[in-house]
Amino acid sequence: MGTQCRIELFGGTPELYERLFARLEEIDGMMSVNRPDSEISRINALAGLERVPVSPGLSAVLERARYFAKASDGAFDPTIGPLVRLWGIGGDAPRVPAPEEIRAALELVNWRDLELEPAGTAFLRRAGMKLDLGAIAKGFAADELVKLLETSGVRAAVIDLGGNIYVYGTRPVRGFFSFGQKPRTGWRIGVQDPGAERGAYAGYIETGEASVVTSGVYERFFTGDGKRWHHILDTASGLPVEGALLSVTITARSSMNADALSTAVFVMGCEKGRALAETHNALALFIFEDKTIRGSAGALDAFTLTSESFQVIPEQVQ
Ligand code: AMP
Ligand code: MG
Repeated sequence: MGTQCRIELFGGTPELYERLFARLEEIDGMMSVNRPDSEISRINALAGLERVPVSPGLSAVLERARYFAKASDGAFDPTIGPLVRLWGIGGDAPRVPAPEEIRAALELVNWRDLELEPAGTAFLRRAGMKLDLGAIAKGFAADELVKLLETSGVRAAVIDLGGNIYVYGTRPVRGFFSFGQKPRTGWRIGVQDPGAERGAYAGYIETGEASVVTSGVYERFFTGDGKRWHHILDTASGLPVEGALLSVTITARSSMNADALSTAVFVMGCEKGRALAETHNALALFIFEDKTIRGSAGALDAFTLTSESFQVIPEQVQ
Protein backbone atom coordinates (compact mmCIF):
# COMPACT_ATOMS: atom_id res chain seq x y z
CA MET A 1 0.00 0.00 0.00
CA GLY A 2 3.02 2.21 -0.20
CA THR A 3 2.77 3.18 3.44
CA GLN A 4 3.36 2.02 6.99
CA CYS A 5 0.56 -0.01 8.58
CA ARG A 6 0.26 -0.29 12.33
CA ILE A 7 -2.25 -2.34 14.30
CA GLU A 8 -2.67 -2.27 18.06
CA LEU A 9 -4.95 -4.86 19.65
CA PHE A 10 -6.29 -4.90 23.17
CA GLY A 11 -6.71 -8.56 24.08
CA GLY A 12 -5.34 -9.93 20.79
CA THR A 13 -3.04 -12.86 20.09
CA PRO A 14 0.04 -13.13 17.84
CA GLU A 15 -2.05 -15.32 15.50
CA LEU A 16 -4.63 -12.59 15.15
CA TYR A 17 -1.95 -10.04 14.23
CA GLU A 18 -0.72 -12.47 11.61
CA ARG A 19 -4.19 -12.99 10.22
CA LEU A 20 -4.77 -9.24 9.97
CA PHE A 21 -1.47 -8.56 8.22
CA ALA A 22 -2.07 -11.50 5.88
CA ARG A 23 -5.38 -9.91 4.91
CA LEU A 24 -3.61 -6.61 4.20
CA GLU A 25 -1.12 -8.46 2.02
CA GLU A 26 -4.00 -10.08 0.14
CA ILE A 27 -5.71 -6.73 -0.46
CA ASP A 28 -2.45 -5.23 -1.66
CA GLY A 29 -2.20 -8.13 -4.10
CA MET A 30 -5.61 -7.24 -5.52
CA MET A 31 -5.38 -3.46 -5.63
CA SER A 32 -1.78 -2.35 -5.97
CA VAL A 33 -0.93 -0.68 -9.28
CA ASN A 34 2.74 -1.25 -8.45
CA ARG A 35 2.38 -5.01 -8.69
CA PRO A 36 2.19 -6.21 -12.28
CA ASP A 37 0.38 -9.36 -11.13
CA SER A 38 -2.39 -7.59 -9.18
CA GLU A 39 -6.00 -7.79 -10.36
CA ILE A 40 -6.02 -4.05 -10.88
CA SER A 41 -2.93 -4.21 -13.11
CA ARG A 42 -4.65 -6.86 -15.20
CA ILE A 43 -7.73 -4.68 -15.71
CA ASN A 44 -5.41 -1.82 -16.71
CA ALA A 45 -3.39 -3.96 -19.11
CA LEU A 46 -6.57 -5.13 -20.83
CA ALA A 47 -8.13 -1.67 -21.14
CA GLY A 48 -9.94 -1.33 -24.44
CA LEU A 49 -9.49 -5.03 -25.08
CA GLU A 50 -11.15 -7.38 -22.66
CA ARG A 51 -13.52 -7.64 -19.75
CA VAL A 52 -11.77 -9.10 -16.67
CA PRO A 53 -13.32 -11.21 -13.91
CA VAL A 54 -12.62 -9.67 -10.48
CA SER A 55 -12.81 -11.00 -6.92
CA PRO A 56 -15.73 -9.91 -4.71
CA GLY A 57 -13.56 -7.55 -2.62
CA LEU A 58 -12.29 -5.63 -5.60
CA SER A 59 -15.76 -5.63 -7.13
CA ALA A 60 -17.11 -3.95 -4.00
CA VAL A 61 -14.38 -1.29 -4.05
CA LEU A 62 -14.91 -0.55 -7.74
CA GLU A 63 -18.66 -0.24 -7.24
CA ARG A 64 -18.16 2.17 -4.36
CA ALA A 65 -15.51 4.11 -6.25
CA ARG A 66 -17.85 4.55 -9.19
CA TYR A 67 -20.62 5.58 -6.81
CA PHE A 68 -18.46 8.34 -5.28
CA ALA A 69 -17.25 9.43 -8.70
CA LYS A 70 -20.85 10.04 -9.66
CA ALA A 71 -21.80 11.59 -6.31
CA SER A 72 -18.84 14.01 -6.50
CA ASP A 73 -19.47 14.82 -10.14
CA GLY A 74 -16.10 13.36 -11.07
CA ALA A 75 -14.02 15.24 -8.46
CA PHE A 76 -13.10 11.79 -7.16
CA ASP A 77 -12.32 9.54 -10.11
CA PRO A 78 -10.89 5.99 -9.85
CA THR A 79 -9.75 6.17 -13.51
CA ILE A 80 -7.23 8.89 -12.56
CA GLY A 81 -4.37 6.40 -13.20
CA PRO A 82 -2.87 8.00 -16.35
CA LEU A 83 -2.59 11.35 -14.58
CA VAL A 84 -1.12 9.89 -11.38
CA ARG A 85 1.44 8.05 -13.47
CA LEU A 86 2.27 11.12 -15.54
CA TRP A 87 3.07 13.21 -12.46
CA GLY A 88 4.84 10.25 -10.87
CA ILE A 89 3.79 11.44 -7.45
CA GLY A 90 4.89 9.06 -4.74
CA GLY A 91 7.32 7.37 -7.16
CA ASP A 92 11.08 7.80 -7.68
CA ALA A 93 10.92 10.36 -10.48
CA PRO A 94 8.07 12.84 -10.06
CA ARG A 95 8.06 15.76 -12.50
CA VAL A 96 5.93 18.64 -13.74
CA PRO A 97 4.49 17.49 -17.08
CA ALA A 98 4.00 19.72 -20.12
CA PRO A 99 0.46 21.06 -20.71
CA GLU A 100 0.00 18.81 -23.79
CA GLU A 101 0.92 15.77 -21.73
CA ILE A 102 -1.62 16.74 -19.09
CA ARG A 103 -4.29 17.23 -21.73
CA ALA A 104 -3.58 13.82 -23.24
CA ALA A 105 -3.71 12.08 -19.84
CA LEU A 106 -6.93 13.90 -18.90
CA GLU A 107 -8.54 12.54 -22.08
CA LEU A 108 -8.18 9.07 -20.57
CA VAL A 109 -9.73 9.95 -17.21
CA ASN A 110 -13.47 9.32 -17.08
CA TRP A 111 -15.25 7.09 -14.60
CA ARG A 112 -18.17 6.72 -17.06
CA ASP A 113 -15.92 4.51 -19.15
CA LEU A 114 -15.50 2.02 -16.31
CA GLU A 115 -17.93 -0.86 -16.89
CA LEU A 116 -18.75 -3.14 -14.00
CA GLU A 117 -21.51 -5.07 -15.71
CA PRO A 118 -22.09 -7.98 -15.61
CA ALA A 119 -21.43 -8.06 -11.85
CA GLY A 120 -18.05 -9.53 -10.92
CA THR A 121 -16.26 -8.14 -13.96
CA ALA A 122 -14.48 -4.92 -14.83
CA PHE A 123 -13.68 -3.29 -18.14
CA LEU A 124 -12.09 0.02 -19.08
CA ARG A 125 -13.56 1.01 -22.42
CA ARG A 126 -10.55 2.75 -23.95
CA ALA A 127 -6.96 1.59 -24.40
CA GLY A 128 -4.59 3.56 -22.18
CA MET A 129 -7.12 4.04 -19.39
CA LYS A 130 -5.89 3.09 -15.91
CA LEU A 131 -7.53 2.57 -12.55
CA ASP A 132 -5.86 3.94 -9.41
CA LEU A 133 -7.47 3.08 -6.08
CA GLY A 134 -5.01 5.05 -3.96
CA ALA A 135 -7.81 7.23 -2.64
CA ILE A 136 -10.09 4.43 -1.44
CA ALA A 137 -8.22 1.11 -1.02
CA LYS A 138 -6.86 1.82 2.45
CA GLY A 139 -10.37 2.55 3.66
CA PHE A 140 -11.59 -0.73 2.27
CA ALA A 141 -8.65 -2.50 3.93
CA ALA A 142 -9.44 -0.97 7.33
CA ASP A 143 -13.08 -2.09 7.06
CA GLU A 144 -11.94 -5.60 6.14
CA LEU A 145 -9.70 -5.75 9.22
CA VAL A 146 -12.62 -4.62 11.38
CA LYS A 147 -14.72 -7.48 9.97
CA LEU A 148 -12.04 -9.90 11.16
CA LEU A 149 -11.93 -8.21 14.56
CA GLU A 150 -15.69 -8.58 14.99
CA THR A 151 -15.39 -12.36 15.09
CA SER A 152 -12.16 -12.41 17.09
CA GLY A 153 -13.26 -11.51 20.60
CA VAL A 154 -10.87 -8.57 20.77
CA ARG A 155 -12.19 -5.75 22.98
CA ALA A 156 -10.60 -2.87 21.22
CA ALA A 157 -8.13 -2.02 18.51
CA VAL A 158 -6.43 0.85 16.73
CA ILE A 159 -5.78 0.34 13.04
CA ASP A 160 -3.53 2.87 11.35
CA LEU A 161 -2.96 2.36 7.65
CA GLY A 162 -0.72 5.30 6.81
CA GLY A 163 -2.93 7.82 8.56
CA ASN A 164 -6.16 6.09 7.64
CA ILE A 165 -7.35 5.35 11.17
CA TYR A 166 -10.00 3.02 12.55
CA VAL A 167 -10.63 2.94 16.28
CA TYR A 168 -12.53 -0.21 17.12
CA GLY A 169 -14.50 -1.11 20.24
CA THR A 170 -14.45 0.74 23.53
CA ARG A 171 -11.24 2.38 24.51
CA PRO A 172 -9.67 0.52 27.44
CA VAL A 173 -9.47 2.73 30.49
CA ARG A 174 -5.96 3.08 31.85
CA GLY A 175 -4.68 4.44 35.12
CA PHE A 176 -6.41 5.31 38.37
CA PHE A 177 -9.39 7.53 38.97
CA SER A 178 -10.38 9.22 42.15
CA PHE A 179 -13.85 8.69 43.54
CA GLY A 180 -16.51 10.53 41.56
CA GLN A 181 -14.20 11.17 38.62
CA LYS A 182 -15.49 9.64 35.42
CA PRO A 183 -12.89 8.01 33.18
CA ARG A 184 -12.92 9.12 29.59
CA THR A 185 -14.25 6.43 27.27
CA GLY A 186 -13.94 8.02 23.83
CA TRP A 187 -10.93 7.71 21.57
CA ARG A 188 -8.84 10.75 20.78
CA ILE A 189 -7.29 10.94 17.34
CA GLY A 190 -4.75 13.61 16.57
CA VAL A 191 -5.31 15.79 13.52
CA GLN A 192 -1.95 16.49 11.88
CA ASP A 193 -0.75 20.09 11.68
CA PRO A 194 -0.24 20.24 7.89
CA GLY A 195 2.69 22.61 8.17
CA ALA A 196 4.59 20.91 10.97
CA GLU A 197 6.61 17.70 11.26
CA ARG A 198 4.71 14.42 11.33
CA GLY A 199 3.09 13.73 14.68
CA ALA A 200 2.59 17.42 15.52
CA TYR A 201 -1.11 17.99 15.93
CA ALA A 202 -3.43 20.92 15.47
CA GLY A 203 -5.85 19.21 17.83
CA TYR A 204 -7.77 15.99 18.20
CA ILE A 205 -11.10 14.43 17.36
CA GLU A 206 -12.89 12.58 20.12
CA THR A 207 -15.13 9.76 18.98
CA GLY A 208 -16.57 6.35 19.72
CA GLU A 209 -15.90 3.52 17.26
CA ALA A 210 -15.26 5.16 13.90
CA SER A 211 -12.81 5.75 11.12
CA VAL A 212 -10.91 9.03 10.86
CA VAL A 213 -9.24 9.71 7.52
CA THR A 214 -7.28 12.74 6.37
CA SER A 215 -6.37 13.86 2.87
CA GLY A 216 -3.67 16.50 3.03
CA VAL A 217 -1.10 18.31 0.94
CA TYR A 218 1.70 17.09 3.23
CA GLU A 219 1.06 13.38 2.64
CA ARG A 220 2.98 13.02 -0.64
CA PHE A 221 4.59 15.86 -2.52
CA PHE A 222 7.65 16.97 -4.46
CA THR A 223 9.25 20.25 -5.47
CA GLY A 224 9.58 21.07 -9.17
CA ASP A 225 9.86 24.33 -11.18
CA GLY A 226 10.24 26.10 -7.86
CA LYS A 227 6.86 25.02 -6.56
CA ARG A 228 5.52 22.38 -4.22
CA TRP A 229 3.21 19.83 -5.83
CA HIS A 230 1.12 17.43 -3.77
CA HIS A 231 -0.65 14.22 -4.70
CA ILE A 232 -4.36 15.06 -4.85
CA LEU A 233 -5.22 15.85 -8.42
CA ASP A 234 -7.93 18.11 -9.73
CA THR A 235 -9.79 16.12 -12.39
CA ALA A 236 -10.78 19.38 -14.10
CA SER A 237 -7.30 20.90 -14.57
CA GLY A 238 -5.10 17.81 -14.33
CA LEU A 239 -2.96 19.69 -11.77
CA PRO A 240 -2.67 19.11 -8.04
CA VAL A 241 -5.62 20.88 -6.39
CA GLU A 242 -4.72 24.52 -5.85
CA GLY A 243 -6.07 26.83 -3.19
CA ALA A 244 -5.93 27.60 0.49
CA LEU A 245 -7.14 24.23 1.73
CA LEU A 246 -4.38 22.12 3.33
CA SER A 247 -6.26 19.15 4.72
CA VAL A 248 -9.66 17.53 5.06
CA THR A 249 -10.38 15.10 7.89
CA ILE A 250 -13.45 12.88 7.63
CA THR A 251 -14.97 10.89 10.49
CA ALA A 252 -17.43 8.13 9.58
CA ARG A 253 -18.33 4.57 10.50
CA SER A 254 -17.24 3.18 7.15
CA SER A 255 -13.54 3.70 6.48
CA MET A 256 -14.06 3.16 2.76
CA ASN A 257 -16.58 6.00 2.72
CA ALA A 258 -14.30 8.17 4.84
CA ASP A 259 -11.35 7.54 2.52
CA ALA A 260 -13.25 8.23 -0.71
CA LEU A 261 -14.89 11.26 0.88
CA SER A 262 -11.63 12.74 2.19
CA THR A 263 -10.27 12.84 -1.34
CA ALA A 264 -13.53 13.89 -3.01
CA VAL A 265 -14.16 16.65 -0.47
CA PHE A 266 -10.59 17.92 -0.80
CA VAL A 267 -11.03 18.28 -4.56
CA MET A 268 -14.51 19.82 -4.26
CA GLY A 269 -13.48 22.34 -1.61
CA CYS A 270 -15.03 23.36 1.69
CA GLU A 271 -18.53 24.37 0.73
CA LYS A 272 -19.57 21.73 -1.80
CA GLY A 273 -17.47 19.09 -0.07
CA ARG A 274 -19.11 19.59 3.29
CA ALA A 275 -22.53 19.04 1.75
CA LEU A 276 -21.34 15.78 0.20
CA ALA A 277 -19.95 14.60 3.54
CA GLU A 278 -23.13 15.51 5.37
CA THR A 279 -25.35 13.53 3.00
CA HIS A 280 -23.19 10.51 3.87
CA ASN A 281 -23.41 10.94 7.65
CA ALA A 282 -19.78 11.90 7.77
CA LEU A 283 -18.11 14.74 9.70
CA ALA A 284 -15.74 16.99 7.77
CA LEU A 285 -13.00 19.16 9.28
CA PHE A 286 -10.99 21.59 7.14
CA ILE A 287 -7.59 23.18 7.81
CA PHE A 288 -6.60 26.20 5.73
CA GLU A 289 -3.34 27.93 4.87
CA ASP A 290 -4.22 30.94 7.02
CA LYS A 291 -4.32 28.60 10.05
CA THR A 292 -8.08 28.63 10.37
CA ILE A 293 -10.05 25.46 10.99
CA ARG A 294 -13.62 25.07 9.81
CA GLY A 295 -16.03 22.21 9.65
CA SER A 296 -19.51 20.82 9.76
CA ALA A 297 -21.23 21.41 13.10
CA GLY A 298 -20.70 17.81 14.23
CA ALA A 299 -17.02 17.92 13.28
CA LEU A 300 -16.36 21.07 15.31
CA ASP A 301 -18.21 19.56 18.31
CA ALA A 302 -15.95 16.52 18.19
CA PHE A 303 -12.77 18.58 17.70
CA THR A 304 -10.56 20.04 20.43
CA LEU A 305 -7.87 22.52 19.46
CA THR A 306 -4.50 21.92 21.13
CA SER A 307 -2.14 24.07 19.05
CA GLU A 308 -2.05 27.80 19.65
CA SER A 309 -1.15 28.54 16.06
CA PHE A 310 -4.64 27.69 14.83
CA GLN A 311 -8.02 29.30 15.16
CA VAL A 312 -11.36 27.53 14.96
CA ILE A 313 -13.97 29.45 12.98
CA PRO A 314 -17.36 28.45 14.30
CA GLU A 315 -19.62 29.80 11.59
CA GLN A 316 -20.60 27.34 8.93
CA VAL A 317 -20.08 29.28 5.76
CA GLN A 318 -16.67 29.80 4.32
P1 AMP B 1 -5.94 10.22 -0.46
O1 AMP B 1 -4.64 10.31 0.27
O2 AMP B 1 -6.89 9.23 0.10
O3 AMP B 1 -6.58 11.55 -0.64
O4 AMP B 1 -5.63 9.64 -1.90
C1 AMP B 1 -4.72 10.26 -2.77
C2 AMP B 1 -4.28 9.26 -3.81
O5 AMP B 1 -5.40 8.94 -4.65
C3 AMP B 1 -3.22 9.80 -4.75
O6 AMP B 1 -1.94 9.45 -4.30
C4 AMP B 1 -3.59 9.16 -6.06
O7 AMP B 1 -3.10 7.83 -6.12
C5 AMP B 1 -5.09 9.09 -6.01
N1 AMP B 1 -5.79 10.32 -6.46
C6 AMP B 1 -5.29 11.58 -6.63
N2 AMP B 1 -6.25 12.44 -7.02
C7 AMP B 1 -7.40 11.72 -7.11
C8 AMP B 1 -8.74 12.05 -7.48
N3 AMP B 1 -9.10 13.29 -7.84
N4 AMP B 1 -9.65 11.03 -7.48
C9 AMP B 1 -9.30 9.77 -7.13
N5 AMP B 1 -8.06 9.42 -6.77
C10 AMP B 1 -7.11 10.37 -6.76
MG1 MG C 1 -8.96 9.11 0.34
